[in-house]
Amino acid sequence: MMISSEVKYIPAFLKPEKIEKDAWALIISGKQILLWKADNQLRIPEINELKDTISIDGDMVYIGRYDGHACYCKKIDDLQTLTENLKAVELREITVQTGDPGLFILAGTANHILHWNSVNQYCGYCGHKTADKKDERAKICPNCGYTVYPRISPATITAVFHKDKILLAHNKNFKKDLYSLIAGYVEPGETLEQCVVREIREEVGIKVKNMKYFGSQPWPFPDSLMMAFTAEYESGEIEVDNFEITDAAWYSADNLPEIPNTDSVAGKMIRWYRDQMNKMSN
Ligand SMILES: [Zn+2]
Repeated sequence: MMISSEVKYIPAFLKPEKIEKDAWALIISGKQILLWKADNQLRIPEINELKDTISIDGDMVYIGRYDGHACYCKKIDDLQTLTENLKAVELREITVQTGDPGLFILAGTANHILHWNSVNQYCGYCGHKTADKKDERAKICPNCGYTVYPRISPATITAVFHKDKILLAHNKNFKKDLYSLIAGYVEPGETLEQCVVREIREEVGIKVKNMKYFGSQPWPFPDSLMMAFTAEYESGEIEVDNFEITDAAWYSADNLPEIPNTDSVAGKMIRWYRDQMNKMSN
C-alpha cells in the first residue's frame, strides 16, 4: 500500500485575477474552523456566503484549488458571531464532520500557512516589519533583505515489526488508551534513517534494522512533514522513556488497542499492517 496520492487539492501561490463566484473561505480561529451547514450537511463555506458575517477583506491568503474551488484562508480572533448556518468545529475533526477526508490536508495547509504568517510579521534578523514577497510564498525584510519561506519540519514515523507483531506506544499527550507508532523530529545533521533508529532507541529502548520508506504526508499542526518507514526489530527489551512514552508493547493484528483515525499516517499504516496480516491468514 502507498499513502493515497489521489489529488483533489492542488497547492498554489498566485491568486486568480478576481475572486471567483464559487471560491471557498477557510476561516480558522485557534484550533477550530468554520463550516457551512445546509441540508444537514457541513461543508467549507463559499466566500459570498460569509459576507454578512465575517469581513472578507484583501488580507485573505490564497492557498490553491480544491476540486476546482479557489481556496482562501483567514485567521480570526474568535468565532463568537455565528449564525445558524455557521458552525465552528475542531480542525482535526473535519473529516468526521464533512465526510471528505481530502479536506483534512486542505484545512491543515490553511493552518500551516496562517501560522507561518503570524510568526513572521517581523524580521528574525534585524527586527524590521516584513512584507509579502510578490512572486513567491515568502516574507521579505525591506530593511535587510532577509527572506523567510514557510517552514516545514521533517519528522519520521515508524512501524516496527517483530515476527507478526507491531510495536505500538502510548504517548503522554495522547488521549487515554490511544496507541500509535513511534515518531519524532529529524535533528540537524541527521539522515531520516538515523532519526528512525535514534527515536526508537530513545523512546522505547530497542534497536531496529532494515528500514524501508513507506510514504509521506504533511502534518500541518503547525508545520511537520511526516516521513513514514517500516523497520524490523533487531535486539533489546522494550523500556519506555516515561518522558514522552508511558507504555509500549507488541500487538498482534487481531488484538489491536485503540488506534489513530485514517487522517493520520499512523492510522493508515497500522490498518495497512492489519490488512496484510488478515490477507495472510485467509
Ligand atoms: Zn531584516
